[in-house]
Amino acid sequence: MKKVTNFVFLLIMIMIPLMACNNQSNKANVIQEEVFALGTIIEFKIYDDDSKKAKEAIDKSIQRIREIEDKMTINKDKSELIEINNNAGINFIYVSPDTFFVIKKASEYSKLSQGAFDLTIEPIVKLWGIGTDNARIPKQEEIDVLLDLINYEDLILDEESQSVMLRKKGQAIDLGAIAKGYAGDEVKRILTEHGIQTAFVNLGGNVVAIGTKVDGSPWKIGIQNPLDERGSHVAVIEVKDKAVVTSGNYERYFIKDGKRYHHIIDPKTGYPAEAGIISSTIVTDQSIDADALSTAVYVMGLEKGLKLIERMENVEAVIITEDNQIYVTAGLREDFKLSNPQFQLLENLN
Ligand code: FAD
Ligand code: MG
Repeated sequence: MKKVTNFVFLLIMIMIPLMACNNQSNKANVIQEEVFALGTIIEFKIYDDDSKKAKEAIDKSIQRIREIEDKMTINKDKSELIEINNNAGINFIYVSPDTFFVIKKASEYSKLSQGAFDLTIEPIVKLWGIGTDNARIPKQEEIDVLLDLINYEDLILDEESQSVMLRKKGQAIDLGAIAKGYAGDEVKRILTEHGIQTAFVNLGGNVVAIGTKVDGSPWKIGIQNPLDERGSHVAVIEVKDKAVVTSGNYERYFIKDGKRYHHIIDPKTGYPAEAGIISSTIVTDQSIDADALSTAVYVMGLEKGLKLIERMENVEAVIITEDNQIYVTAGLREDFKLSNPQFQLLENLN
């Protein structure tokens, strides 16, 4: 949990445009709260006349987020995930339905993306240490040794006993690219169960927009300018009742000799992914899907990433490439407004 000061500052800057877009014009009672969990700032904005109910819903959500973190973290002394990792190549580990569900989803997305998203990426993530005080460029030999361990096909899931095992010693699971998404879905479930119809929750850039704004108009969500750390956006999208998740190279990185090394790793090379994308945003119903897909598309690049998205129903994307072009999938174009002339809208992929 240490080493996050700069990152937290950056996240605050990322959230500013998102929030700035959503000032409610009419007088709704708004209940706001911010907490630090999952290595990030989580911000709640609930619009409801019953403040007591809203506060209770927020408290329950925070409790649930902490529960998820305690089960799926690799940054504490113990968790279910750490136990699986410590028993790689040795034993099956029985886990809670939460952890089993997220690992199973992560496994499905690993297959679907043909390993661009790979839940067994942990050894390489740890080697680079990006986002920690120990971040460094590893030697090629170090990467090569660990690359042999990265293989989502070495995950064994036993449905009946709800237990999990990795085939080889040294293998380890990292759910950093998907568990925040699951937490977002659980927050939505809890708020909805409390009768909340209008809410905007931001889990460090993973947005869950519940319902519409109080006046019935869509939420306006700013897409962060990946080239600008000052919280400006390149575009605004309008959504109703959706999860919006962005993966970018500006979230966690270090710069060495003018080159940026960011935290999304290409499992094929063991290096930060360089497929020409600098930001990928996914808009869909479930935040867990949006989280996994935003990371997968980032690694796959524009063409392959879009092919994956197009195979799926009700999934839209905004992809920004390193040459400042933005591609928006057809289902989102009407609800998309470019707000920065430095970027150019790509109409077709030819
Ligand atoms: P995403 O693109 O969604 O995910 C990137 C992250 O996924 C990387 O940081 C890496 O962990 C992993 N990853 C990289 N490449 C791939 C790949 N090809 N396939 C699959 N996964 C990949 N941060 C802290 O600083 N301290 C903490 O204590 C801490 N605890 C956390 C506990 C939990 C349960 C979770 C979910 C997150 C925690 N985090 C913590 C944050 C975490 O380390 C990630 O940095 C964060 O989840 C990245 O999210 P993102 O939206 O920025 O990027
Ligand atoms: Mg992700």
